[in-house]
Amino acid sequence: MRFDIITIFPEFFGGIFGHGVVKRAIANGLVEVSVHDLREFTHDRHRTVDDRPFGGGEGMVLKPEPLMEAIESLGVATKGERDTAQESVILLSAQGAKFTQGVARELAVLERVVLICGRYEGVDERVNKLACDRELSIGDYVLSGGELGAAVIVDATMRLLPGVLGNEASSAYESFGAADAEFAEDGDGPPRSTHGAGGLLDYPHYTRPAEFRGLAVPEVLAGGDHAAIRKWRRERALEKTLKNRPDLLEKAELSEKDRKFVKRLKSQH
Ligand code: SAM
Repeated sequence: MRFDIITIFPEFFGGIFGHGVVKRAIANGLVEVSVHDLREFTHDRHRTVDDRPFGGGEGMVLKPEPLMEAIESLGVATKGERDTAQESVILLSAQGAKFTQGVARELAVLERVVLICGRYEGVDERVNKLACDRELSIGDYVLSGGELGAAVIVDATMRLLPGVLGNEASSAYESFGAADAEFAEDGDGPPRSTHGAGGLLDYPHYTRPAEFRGLAVPEVLAGGDHAAIRKWRRERALEKTLKNRPDLLEKAELSEKDRKFVKRLKSQH
């Protein structure tokens, strides 16, 4: 898979993909990330990428000409002829649809994703209309540029690609795992690394030491009773989701046992 990022601050990405899983994926050739300096597509002495907004008001707007030239230089098909099952051009925007794990899963099956980073008041809307397949926002807040959003999308998408994580199942069994991911009753043997799958948040994790600053690791986790560990993990995932993201519970895949547990939790609070 290949990502192309168009930005006025290419140096922003200098070290951001140089760590851990992402660094390894790039080094192993599973993914390629190419950063393009928007100013390379200007033709004036000052390398101008922005201009004042029509209609007045504060701030500047990224001009359409350099952006369209930059996109066209990448060799992606024009919007009308683009096979969106293989490539997608995305505008980072606070006005975009929310980027979620579900969207990351959609992007992870593509061959190429082009990410356009806005700055100032944003990007001339004609670029969106002429070249972009979707606008994505990474959350309900306004950033000063699309670069952080692009990095978030690259990271979250890339770790879903086959071969990127050591264990294929890892990305299915973590927070926001696919709603249809099989959960809870995963047979005998050591429990999977997480039972947060099924659209729930992950459960809490612990490592050594067994006691830290007066807080002990929950006894069940050290006991070796796999069924009890599974039950504990599932219940903690339900508890955490109810506390922090009750909205997720409405769409999650819940068993009868889960539902009863959630009902009990609700009645306690
Ligand atoms: N005037 C815009 C608005 O009110 O929606 C905000 C522009 S923002 C200062 C500049 C750029 O940062 C945007 O063009 C976009 O590329 C990026 N940006 C800001 N917030 C974002 C978010 N939540 N998600 C993704 N990109 C964002």
